[in-house]
Amino acid sequence: MFSAIDMAPRDPILGITEAFNADINQNKINLGVGVYYDDNGKVPLLSCVQKAEEILIATPAPRTYLPIEGLAAYDKAVQELVFGADSAVIQEKRAVTVQAIGGTGALKIGADFLKRFAPDAEVYISDPSWENHRALFESAGFKVNNYAYFDAATHGVNFAGMIADLKAMPRGSIVLLHACCHNPTGADLTADQWTEVIGTISSGGLVPFLDMAYQGFGAGIAEDGEVVRRFAATGGPLLVSNSFSKSFSLYGERVGALSVVAASADEAARLMSQLKRVVRTNYSNPPVHGGKVVATVLTTPELRQLWEDELAGMRVRIKEMREAFVQKLAAKGHDFAFVRDQIGMFSYSGLSKAQVEQLRAESIYAVDTGRICVAALNSRNIDIVIDAIAKVL
Ligand code: PLP
Repeated sequence: MFSAIDMAPRDPILGITEAFNADINQNKINLGVGVYYDDNGKVPLLSCVQKAEEILIATPAPRTYLPIEGLAAYDKAVQELVFGADSAVIQEKRAVTVQAIGGTGALKIGADFLKRFAPDAEVYISDPSWENHRALFESAGFKVNNYAYFDAATHGVNFAGMIADLKAMPRGSIVLLHACCHNPTGADLTADQWTEVIGTISSGGLVPFLDMAYQGFGAGIAEDGEVVRRFAATGGPLLVSNSFSKSFSLYGERVGALSVVAASADEAARLMSQLKRVVRTNYSNPPVHGGKVVATVLTTPELRQLWEDELAGMRVRIKEMREAFVQKLAAKGHDFAFVRDQIGMFSYSGLSKAQVEQLRAESIYAVDTGRICVAALNSRNIDIVIDAIAKVL
């Protein structure tokens, strides 16, 4: 039965990690990762998470099943974070939220849900996008197309191309958008450009699906969530996946959520019943621990403040690394000013595949597309990286 099965293609990022792990150079640097490292090159354990875990341990609880849609306190806190506590969609009970297994799980629930109710729609993702977007929607049975997004010449967004592609999409098409901190390019839309995108999507009868995996890594928690609020104000339909993997440094706990905005409270109740069916037939109900940690932090004022401060610390450190990267390359005669304008954890550095390969010979690992994780740079490795990049330019 299994003898004819082919080997599946390797995950490109995992391939980098394997090559990095096999490298015996003690000064090797992995810029191919998709996680935030602190200035010591370590994945941080946030103090707010540790304190929340202390609270949870002090009040031991049996591990019963959570409801299908997840922990109520978590879903409520997520909704308020994503849409804003004073949001009309919350007040009017038009938003429904289910706890999900990370941002990936949220996207998968959303994709399976959409496939049931919009089976003939096609999905559009940015060119380029997080590499799992295409695979996730294809595995849910959708045809996945690209819309123009990145302009290699300007290192920014090809906005005219994006709008032209949005206008050409058939009504009912599903458009996946990065709410902030675009992965992999680091190129985001301006507020005015979002106005035009929101207008085009509304008038074109398109279904926006916002993926927010980096809330708080751009301009701030509220600032990054603003796009979601602006879409929600149009009245829906709207799907939003969000993840706490990065913003809480809780990668392995798998904490995320899917929220859907409906036209009325009655419609929302029906949507929730169908979302629960999707969850039930995938994994029945979500795990307890990560959801409890995040809910505890978000609903305990001191911990919430601590989290906001710690997240700001991560955001500021990335910005400092961007600035240092630009200045140090400028000092060697290379203009990388665009890296300062990019936002979030990643940068499409403009390095070619050949240059990335040359860097590998120096034990510095990046993605073939030239994507580097700015959060993998730190005060001790940046000079090594700059010297190596200057050498291959
Ligand atoms: N969406 C984007 C754009 C991402 O970059 C990622 C993770 O890298 C995810 C979703 C998935 O997040 P999670 O690790 O929580 O599943």
